[in-house]
Amino acid sequence: MLCEICKRKVKTRRNLHNLFDPEVHHICEKCFMEHPVILKKSTMPIEQFTLHLNQMLDRVTQFPMAYMSFMKPFYLDFIKRKDVEIILYFDQTGDQIFEILDSLKLGSIYLLTLYEDIGKGEKL
Ligand SMILES: [Zn+2]
Repeated sequence: MLCEICKRKVKTRRNLHNLFDPEVHHICEKCFMEHPVILKKSTMPIEQFTLHLNQMLDRVTQFPMAYMSFMKPFYLDFIKRKDVEIILYFDQTGDQIFEILDSLKLGSIYLLTLYEDIGKGEKL
């Protein structure tokens, strides 16, 4: 599999325990060291319910596919929760998306995002 950022082949260290495992990562080790996953969890109230925000990166990325293999722990966390019924994923979130989710009144939401756009000037 090729790295989504640098387009080089992703090399995984093989041993007897993972010799035949399929390659699932879309980012190589070098690119991951330059663009690491920095988890930020926060909770905010929306119309009578709660929005659980899980942000994976601290800056904008132009390669969201590179981080798809890091989402499994979030899905498992969502399955374990009893208070949340909806999981949503956005590459980038911001005030506009929060306002839309607030007005839809969907209940408690588990929101997974790569990057939260806080400032008005930050765009992809
Ligand atoms: Zn790479």
